[in-house]
Amino acid sequence: MNHKKSERPLRLAAVLILAAAVVLSLGRAAWGAKNVILMVSDGAGFNTWMATDMYRGKPGKQVYDQSEWVRLGCTTFTLNRSGKPTGDDKQDRRIVYDPAKAWDATPRSNKPGDFAGYAYLKTTATDSAASATALATGRKTYNGAINWSNADRPMLGQTIAEIAKTRGKSVGVVSSVPWSHATPAGLGGAHNRSRGNCDEIANEMLAADWLDVIMGAGNPDYDNDGVPVPDGKRRNYKYVGGEETWKALKSGRGGWKLIESKEDFEALTSGPTPPKVLGTAQVAATLQERRGSGRSIIAYTDVKGAEPPDVPFIPNVPTLATMTKAALNCLDDNPDGFYLMIEGGAVDWANHANRPRRMIEEQTDFVRAVEAVVAWIESHGGWDETLLILTADHDCGLIWGPESKTTAFAPIRDRGPGKLPGIVYNSGGHSNSLVPLMARGPGSRRFAELIKGQDERAAAVWRFSGRYVDNTDIFTVMKGEVVGAEQ
Ligand SMILES: [Zn+2]
Repeated sequence: MNHKKSERPLRLAAVLILAAAVVLSLGRAAWGAKNVILMVSDGAGFNTWMATDMYRGKPGKQVYDQSEWVRLGCTTFTLNRSGKPTGDDKQDRRIVYDPAKAWDATPRSNKPGDFAGYAYLKTTATDSAASATALATGRKTYNGAINWSNADRPMLGQTIAEIAKTRGKSVGVVSSVPWSHATPAGLGGAHNRSRGNCDEIANEMLAADWLDVIMGAGNPDYDNDGVPVPDGKRRNYKYVGGEETWKALKSGRGGWKLIESKEDFEALTSGPTPPKVLGTAQVAATLQERRGSGRSIIAYTDVKGAEPPDVPFIPNVPTLATMTKAALNCLDDNPDGFYLMIEGGAVDWANHANRPRRMIEEQTDFVRAVEAVVAWIESHGGWDETLLILTADHDCGLIWGPESKTTAFAPIRDRGPGKLPGIVYNSGGHSNSLVPLMARGPGSRRFAELIKGQDERAAAVWRFSGRYVDNTDIFTVMKGEVVGAEQ
């Protein structure tokens, strides 16, 4: 073989490939990310993530612990403490996250766990709707608002879902709780004065021309154990937009391909897909977290703090990872890319109920969905094409270590893989604590320009820089990547 002869064309080819790569990378930098994926573990503060890492034997070894990831804290506070619009745009300064107040270990009384810091964090927390609005629009609002301003106006056209669609992207939301619940509603671009109007929200989502994939729970024909509701028994149609809407969907009207069974979700993880897919898993409230409770929510909440008996997983519902793979396969046909939000919605529910085993189960389901997304990215264009952001919308349960009722913020304790870590709940509700933010891919480095503060105590206990951004900054970064050079 004559090496000399083939050298010149080879060198020329190399130069051309290099030039093409430069042009491509410049183009990409100017035009932002092809795909933007936001994953929200609802109600999962740092200690929820850490406890799950410990249980899985993976502290510091999860996919998001690799050095390429941006790791920060994130604040989640809302505009005010109102549950309805108050008419102004004034930020209530008392609820803006303040590390000095957050870590105040001063006892307020002789009661166990009555520390000033805990009290501050518990009384200044956001709900999922206001937090979803901040993530979706970059604007703070009152608790309960779904992309609805404190001036009592719908934020039409201002959500990341709507903006992504105007840029030609496909749009999807996936959740392990009803798909019209606060987080998928907010990040799916619905607009409502109150998150409680699930039927209105569901109908808006179904009519929205920007949504291509919706997946979650909330199926009126099944109970919390995935068992069909017998004929003649009352069904709850609220989460799917009412009885008429559900009947229309079941009969194939409304422009959506309705899928329900686990097999249907699994079948969608590969191969060709219909244009608009509505997945409503065969279970009432959530995929697995409420199994064992039947249809009686009252019985469930009556035993707060008590672990439910070891009930086998419901066999006919998909995991969040399966739903995620199906959604990715539906959305990835668009050459202009997509925006997708995936929520681990029942981590919050387990934390409200103070059930550590169910919390770890739900967070594990979420982490497996993260692993599925990472695998998809790495086999579909890699980290130059897709921005992935992981966060929580707020903390829930104020989880700390076994001594945390007597020593404020006593750390949680690793008891080895497969063993429940030493954790104690200090609340049955949300808190204003910092939550984790991990990001990788185009735009992820922009968070460094948006730092709002530094929390030294958070840095020490949760092993990161302590630097934090605000949840509205997540919108800023996502929008920057969706809109690209035109921003
Ligand atoms: Zn909650």
